[in-house]
Amino acid sequence: SAVVITIDGPSGSGKGTIAGLLAAKLGWNLLDSGALYRLLAFAARNHGIDLTNEEALKTLAAHLDVQFIDKRIILEGDEVTDDIRNEQVGAGASQVAALPAVREALLQRQRAFREAPGLVADGRDMGTVVFPEAPLKIYLTASAEERARRRYLQLKGKVEGVSLPSLLDEIRARDERDMQRAVAPLKPAVDAIQLDSTELTIEQVLERILGEVAN
Ligand code: C5P
Repeated sequence: SAVVITIDGPSGSGKGTIAGLLAAKLGWNLLDSGALYRLLAFAARNHGIDLTNEEALKTLAAHLDVQFIDKRIILEGDEVTDDIRNEQVGAGASQVAALPAVREALLQRQRAFREAPGLVADGRDMGTVVFPEAPLKIYLTASAEERARRRYLQLKGKVEGVSLPSLLDEIRARDERDMQRAVAPLKPAVDAIQLDSTELTIEQVLERILGEVAN
C-alpha cells in the first residue's frame, strides 16, 4: 500500500514548494489540500453562497467539480490555477476551513489522493487528522517576516496590488485564525519533526527531509 509523508505548517513556510519538489523527486502523488479550501471559497463566491452558510458550503464541497492536471487546476471546466492564489481567496479559504461540516465533506476526497507507491500531502492537518498513520510527518515553520517575504515574491507579477506590509498583516491574521479554530487547528502532530526554514534554502530543507525518508 501507499506510504504517506505529511508536510504541515503556516502559510509561506515553504510547504507547497517543498511538497511539490519532494513528490516529483520520489515520483509520488501530491495533495495540495489548501487548494481544496481555496477552490471551495472561490466557487462559493461564484455561486453567491455566503461563506458562513455551513449547510450550503458542505453540499458544494461534496460536489465540487475539480481536476488537478499536472500543475493546472480546473474548476467547473475553467482554469483557475492563478485565480485562487491571492490573499483574498486565502482569507476566504481560512473562513470556510473553520466549519466542521466542510472539513468532514473534504476528508474522503483528500484521502483518495493516496496512491501507490506514495503520497506527499501538504496542508495544516495532514499529520493530525487526515493521515494520522503517516510514518513521516514534517512541521515546517519560518518567521512571519520571512513567510510574508516569500509569499510576496510568489505573488508579485501574478496578482495585482500586492504589498509586503499588507501581506504580512493578512498572513498573520490567517495563521491566527487557523491556530485558534476549534476543529483541526494548525499545530504540529505529536510525532512530527519540526523544521524551521527561516535560515535554510529550499535545497537544504529538501535534503533534510530526504535524509529522513532514507531512514
Ligand atoms: O495552504 P494554503 O495557504 O493554500 O491554505 C489556505 C487555507 O486553507 C489555510 O489558511 C487554512 O485555513 C485552510 N487549510 C486547512 N487545512 C488544510 C489546508 C488548508 O484548514 N489541510
